Amino acid sequence: MIIRFERNGKNKHGWMVEEENKVRVIEGDIYKRDGGKPVMTGLEVPLSEVKLLSPSAPSKVVCIGINYEDHIKEMGSDVPAEPLMFLKPSTTVIGPGDAIVYPSATQNLHYEGELAVVIKKEARNITAAEAEDYILGFTCALDITARDLQQQDGQWTRAKGFDTFCPLGPAIAAKVDYQNLRIVTKVNGEIRQDGSTSQMIFSVPQLLEAVTSVMTLLPGDVVLTGTPAGVGPLQPGDEVSVTIEGIGTLTNKVVSK
Ligand code: MG
Repeated sequence: MIIRFERNGKNKHGWMVEEENKVRVIEGDIYKRDGGKPVMTGLEVPLSEVKLLSPSAPSKVVCIGINYEDHIKEMGSDVPAEPLMFLKPSTTVIGPGDAIVYPSATQNLHYEGELAVVIKKEARNITAAEAEDYILGFTCALDITARDLQQQDGQWTRAKGFDTFCPLGPAIAAKVDYQNLRIVTKVNGEIRQDGSTSQMIFSVPQLLEAVTSVMTLLPGDVVLTGTPAGVGPLQPGDEVSVTIEGIGTLTNKVVSK
């Protein structure tokens, strides 16, 4: 699985070999934006000696709202005729273990555990049938939401856009059956969301077709695919985790501002 990490003050990509507790260091741009190819250096470092970063540093995070039927019911929404899109700024992105900062502007901070798609190459006006060619892989995400501000504002930029509101990680898994993965969100070890990506209303390929009919996705951009039922509040001091089958567990702590 692909990770991004910091070691000795430098950010690099690597291939995580979890069972051996090792990272194989990759040099070069894994997205081949410079025309070159990424190179496995042969250098290996212990996983314990690196700080994991968000596995991608996207130019934008495109999110899909109300894409699971059971979540639509709990929100009292209607099934959308087409995917509902919104953006989180790149400055919301944090890595595994980083702190989610509870802003003083909200009284009702919610977790939403989600499957995230990481884009491999520039994608514009692609069809659902072509979508898999544009996917680098999948990772876990939290779409942290100030629920009260979402309702109060009538649009979602503020509610979804505070710094630290998009934890991503721990790694990018390329080969997973993304149409049928169990996704579990826990708060302080207690299960709050337990769904399957098979419950999505619009599939990942359909979402990429819809998003790229509006905006170009760049290498490393991330698309969040919606959350299953069971969203709820977080408090400062809480530890929230998202586990997706075949990918891993993303864990973050909430701190007060
Ligand atoms: Mg969401």
